[in-house]
Amino acid sequence: MEYQSIINSIYKEVSLLENKGTIADYIPELQKINTDKFGIALIDNFQNRYSIGNATEQFSIQSISKVITTSIIFSKMGNDLWQRVGFEPSGNAFNSLVQLEYENGIPRNPFINAGALVIADLMVSHFENPKEYFLSFMKELSENENIEYNETVAQSEKENGYRNAALVNYIKSFHNIQNHPDDVLDFYFHQCSIEMSCLDLAKVFQVFSNNGIVPKTKFKFLTTSQCKRMNALMQMCGFYDQAGEFTFKVGLPGKSGVGGGVVAIYPNHYTVAVWSPKLNKKGNSYYGLETLERLTTITEASIF
Ligand code: GLN
Repeated sequence: MEYQSIINSIYKEVSLLENKGTIADYIPELQKINTDKFGIALIDNFQNRYSIGNATEQFSIQSISKVITTSIIFSKMGNDLWQRVGFEPSGNAFNSLVQLEYENGIPRNPFINAGALVIADLMVSHFENPKEYFLSFMKELSENENIEYNETVAQSEKENGYRNAALVNYIKSFHNIQNHPDDVLDFYFHQCSIEMSCLDLAKVFQVFSNNGIVPKTKFKFLTTSQCKRMNALMQMCGFYDQAGEFTFKVGLPGKSGVGGGVVAIYPNHYTVAVWSPKLNKKGNSYYGLETLERLTTITEASIF
């Protein structure tokens, strides 16, 4: 398929739309970004790369990182993981606390912050140096050595992360956090602060369009069933309380982050990543969603 000309024309069309989003303001460091940035990268299952705009510029991947930490822990623990975190859509905002009380500290899924913090706790338990492990894993999957944590962003979030601190402490009161809350938060803020480009992310997410196999090394990172489940989680929970709308309009599993990145997976066909920092009211990139809706319509991509 003529992916390059397709993304070129979508890029042009979306650039002309009034960008109705606003930038996330609760992590002060993220507000410094130039809001005009806009990039698209698509990699097909033959490893052909297509991109336009700011597709090679690195940005804060934020919650997109949750898919990879969850996959690492799932590959280690198998289905025992689901005793610590659920796999149901939340229908609530990404940083909501409300469901924890009547669900005894078991977060609804690993992509809302509550669930991601339980996964961060498991990363701290499983690895002697979780930050080092996670960074090197991201470098390997993206085939890019030039990926780093942004310490300023991690610090900025730590200084303002009252909700995440509340979540981790609250979950610990139900005995579903095993490590010290400070260690869990430190890992979590770092995983969110990693900076990657659309091309890096499209590369990393190939493992989910390729049946759990890392294309370059042929390493079977996830079993077929685990890969199916990670895609199912992205479909149901990747966009928080907009997961239904994303499914309805885009029809693919995906994941967003408050840095303005969005990735989507068309299993056995392609992965795509879009970056535009302005977010809609649900915390998902406004241009990102406009782009993906057009892309799946034109390429007739859908898992349904
Ligand atoms: N670091 C952000 C937070 O915890 C990630 C949220 C997101 O990307 N949706 O609030």
